[in-house]
Amino acid sequence: MDEIEKYLQAGKIAARVREKGRQLVRPGKKALEIAEELEKMITDSGAGIAFPVNISVNENAAHYTPSHDDDLVIGEKDVVKVDVGVHVDGYIADTAITVDLSQENQGLVEASRLALENAIAAAKAGVSVGELGEIIGKTITEKGFKPVSNLTGHLLGRYVLHAGLSIPNVKTNDNRKLEEGMAVAIEPFASTGEGIVKEGAVTEVFMLQAVVPVRGRHARRIMETVAKEYKTLPFAERWLYGKGMTGFQIRIGLKELVETGALRPYPVLHDVRGSLVSQAEHTIIIEKDSCKVITR
Ligand code: MN
Ligand code: MN
Repeated sequence: MDEIEKYLQAGKIAARVREKGRQLVRPGKKALEIAEELEKMITDSGAGIAFPVNISVNENAAHYTPSHDDDLVIGEKDVVKVDVGVHVDGYIADTAITVDLSQENQGLVEASRLALENAIAAAKAGVSVGELGEIIGKTITEKGFKPVSNLTGHLLGRYVLHAGLSIPNVKTNDNRKLEEGMAVAIEPFASTGEGIVKEGAVTEVFMLQAVVPVRGRHARRIMETVAKEYKTLPFAERWLYGKGMTGFQIRIGLKELVETGALRPYPVLHDVRGSLVSQAEHTIIIEKDSCKVITR
């Protein structure tokens, strides 16, 4: 398989898992069960998990993945983002949808979905990321919602989820241009809140930044596991359970690794309390005069 075939394969699996997620998100269902089932679907397909399945509800926009003993149950009127990442040999497909269980927030869901489609229609070699941001922001604003200005799409690299270039969700002066062959995730977020996300208190997602000398036994053990199994991709704290460490050992190990700069924590990102956020995301490959969506 060449590079493009690996992307296409990752995209096909990611789309299938995302649609399974759409079915599984139902009132009364535990977020932990959904995440575990979707992650199992990815590994059963022979691909790798590019990041923990995110199931962010209502004002939570991103980075909520269930903890090992998570008791979050999907509510009857929840607005649920399912964000899935699959990699084949490090080539990543990243895709997300929003499920509106009450059917009362279809406008909000449509705003991010339409912004994504408009951005895809404009994406080709030579277009600047600032222009795409303008299209996204304008679409969401016209629908009566706020684009989330401090969340962005991103260039994908091999085993690198955010490979430098960001695709903003609002107009910016960033003149850097899309180039043929780039793999890019575009992910508009629309909000009924302020359109700015803040870091919450909960962190379940981490990513290796640097292999540095660490003193603690548990920290060292976690670092070795992460470097071998997850490499430079984000991982969930719950994945470390079942590897012979206790919850206490995992917590102190992670704490030391964050303090030494070996790991970067990714806290849950939320808009203001009581607000609702929708997300739509596809991964595309930039072509000369258009782009190919690999996660349809
Ligand atoms: Mn995503
Ligand atoms: Mn993404």
